[in-house]
Amino acid sequence: MEIEKISVLIVGSGPAGYTAGIYAGRANLKPVLYTGLNAGGQLMDTTEVENFPGYPNGVLGPQLMDDLKLQAERFGTDLRFGIVTSINFDKIPYTVVIDDEKTIETDTLILSTGASAKWLGLESEKKFNGYGVSACATCDGFFYKGKNVAVIGGGDTALEEAIYLSNLCKSVTVLARSNKLRASQFMQNRVSKKENISITYNVDVQEILGEDKVNGLLLKNNKNDHIFIKEIDAVFIAIGHKPNSDLFKGFIDLDNDGYVMTKNNSTKTNIEGVFACGDLQDRQYRQAITAAGSGCMAALDAERYLSEKN
Ligand code: NDP
Repeated sequence: MEIEKISVLIVGSGPAGYTAGIYAGRANLKPVLYTGLNAGGQLMDTTEVENFPGYPNGVLGPQLMDDLKLQAERFGTDLRFGIVTSINFDKIPYTVVIDDEKTIETDTLILSTGASAKWLGLESEKKFNGYGVSACATCDGFFYKGKNVAVIGGGDTALEEAIYLSNLCKSVTVLARSNKLRASQFMQNRVSKKENISITYNVDVQEILGEDKVNGLLLKNNKNDHIFIKEIDAVFIAIGHKPNSDLFKGFIDLDNDGYVMTKNNSTKTNIEGVFACGDLQDRQYRQAITAAGSGCMAALDAERYLSEKN
C-alpha cells in the first residue's frame, strides 16, 4: 500500500482547524485537513452567530464555517472527509491512519478536534435545538432578551451562562439536579448578587415542552418525585463539555478533564511537532474567535518548527 507523505496534517474542521489551514496554506506548507465526522464542528449546530468579528449583520453558523472552509481551500488546504482512526506518535514522521485504511506520514500534526457539549439525551432536546434549546449563552442568549430562561447544571459553566443571560433576560432559573452547586464559591457569590437569578435544587428535567419552540419544562423533584411544569422561553444546557481527545490519550498530555495541555503560551504539546488548538485545549474561553486565533497560532508554530528543522 502506498503511503502518502506530507508536512502538515490538520485533524478537525472547526474554526481552529480551518484557520490553521488558511495560515499553513498561505505559508505554502500544502496542509491536508481531515474534517472528522461532524464537518464544521459545533457551529454547524447553531443558528445566528453575531459575535464573530467581520460580520456586522451576523452570520449563520453553517455559513460561517462554509466561508472559513472556502478560505482555507483558496490557499491550497487539501480538505478531505474522513476520520483519523489512529496515530503512531513514536517517531517522526508520524504515521496516521484514516478511516482504518489509508496511511499518511506527516512531519507535523495540528490537532483541532474540538469539544462536544454534553446533552441531557432527551428526544425533545434534539427537536428544539436552535428553537429554544441551546448549549451556548453567548451564541444564543441575545435572542431571548427580556424573556424568562432556564439554565440546566450546577457547575461553573452553568453559573457563567446564568450571569451572562441575567444581563439580557428578565429572569434566569438555574436548575441543579443535586442539593448543592458544584460551582466555585466565587461564582456562587457573583450569582447571589444578581436579583434576577434564582436557583432550584433537586430537579431533573423530564421533558422540554413546546409546539414550534420551547415554552416550558416538565420537571421532577427528585426528593419527593413531585412532577411540575416550569414555563420558560428557552433552556440552556450547561452540564459540561467533553474535549474530543480520546484518540490522543496515553500519548499527548491531557489534564484531568481530558483537555490537551499546551506549553507556555503556545500550541506546543509534549510531543515534538504536534500542536493543539481550539476547544480541544481551551477550557476557559471556548469561543469561535478564540478557537480561530489559536488555529492561527498552531499553524505559525508548525511553520516555525519545520523551518528550524530544515
Ligand atoms: P462540571 O463538571 O464542573 O459541572 C457539571 C454540572 O452539570 C454539575 O453541576 C452536574 O451536576 C451537572 N450535570 C452533569 N450531568 C448532568 C445531567 N445529565 N443532568 C443534569 N445535570 C447534570 O462542568 P463545568 O462545565 O461547569 O466545568 C468544567 C470545568 O471547567 C470545571 O473545572 C470548572 O471549574 C471549569 N470552569 C471554570 C470557569 C471559570 O472559572 N470561570 C468557567 C467554566 C468552567 P452534579 O453536581 O450533580 O454532578
